[in-house]
Amino acid sequence: MRVFPLLGEHDYDKVVFCNDNDSGLRAIIAIHDTTLGPALGGVRMLPYPTEAEALRDVLRLARGMTYKAAISGVDLGGGKSVIIGDSRTAKNPALLRALGRFIESLGGQYLAGQDIGTNSHDMAVIRASTGHVACVNESAGGAGDPSRTTAYGVSCGIRAVLKATTGSDTLAGRHISIQGLGNVGFAVARFCHEAGARLTVSDIYTPLAAKAAQELGATVIAPDDIYDVECDVYSPNSVGGIINDDTVPRLRCAAVAGGANNALAEPRHADLLAQRGITYGPDYLVNSGGLIRCQEEVFDRPTEDFTIYSKVTQIYDQTLHVIELADELGISTAAAADWLAEERIAGAK
Ligand code: NAD
Repeated sequence: MRVFPLLGEHDYDKVVFCNDNDSGLRAIIAIHDTTLGPALGGVRMLPYPTEAEALRDVLRLARGMTYKAAISGVDLGGGKSVIIGDSRTAKNPALLRALGRFIESLGGQYLAGQDIGTNSHDMAVIRASTGHVACVNESAGGAGDPSRTTAYGVSCGIRAVLKATTGSDTLAGRHISIQGLGNVGFAVARFCHEAGARLTVSDIYTPLAAKAAQELGATVIAPDDIYDVECDVYSPNSVGGIINDDTVPRLRCAAVAGGANNALAEPRHADLLAQRGITYGPDYLVNSGGLIRCQEEVFDRPTEDFTIYSKVTQIYDQTLHVIELADELGISTAAAADWLAEERIAGAK
């Protein structure tokens, strides 16, 4: 059986270029699809070298959010925004409030959240201009940073790929390699450590790696060596595009499951992993825990860990379902995940 994408490559509901000369804001908001609900997606702030690169990133990320919501049963659409600039030097309240005004002008079609280069305090600043924002910090009355929930979901995805590859989902005694120890990666490392796993970790920011060694007994290796680690599961939790022509042949793991968005450089890399007998837990499914939490915040439902974690645990079953479907259809797990997501959207249209 062949799987055809239902959502064409260029089918976006709306793409808005935002310029505000007073604050210096240069941003792009992309709304990919709102069939399942208003489009939710984080605000990413990076010093993109060109506007074309910012556009490419926001389009790809917005599309990924549509699929993430669809496969995880979330009643939201997919969107994203990017601010062009260095978050350490160029971010200021006026710029964030200007973005908020552009978000407000979209009348609720797009809901902002935090992403790389922004945090829950920034969301509180954006809220001064628009109510269409999630992940506002707790002291300002919001649900706060969803990263730990994302990490809990990633740990569910890791257990699912372990189950598929070894017949057991126990983490005790397993060797997990973790790339990136930021908000998500460090919490993934902690969940795995607390469940008895042995860790090998890397981060380009050495203090975080040292912290993992000290607090979690992790073995630290140089960033580029992470692909060569012989382990049960490789968990990418840093940048996208790290599963590519150079890295796939180097991998010595039985499975991949991590938080990094757009981990595959191209869809065909999922096929390359399958050809090498490596089980891939699709990124947007495995890392959907934070979105599941944001949905509860957006719809004014309780967001405490106990309630949310019981919902996020579904990532375990859904990942196993995707792996079984891929086997049955003779396609990659990434294609099987796309198929399930598109089926839900087609049913709702
Ligand atoms: P973060 O910025 O807090 O952490 C990223 C970490 O990766 C940093 O510590 C950085 O130093 C490290 N890093 C960067 N390049 C590296 C490399 N080549 N090798 C090793 N380490 C490297 O970001 P985060 O919030 O933890 O998000 C991590 C990934 O998860 C991103 O791809 C993000 O889009 C995705 N994600 C995050 C969430 C969330 O709730 N925060 C939800 C879904 C997906």
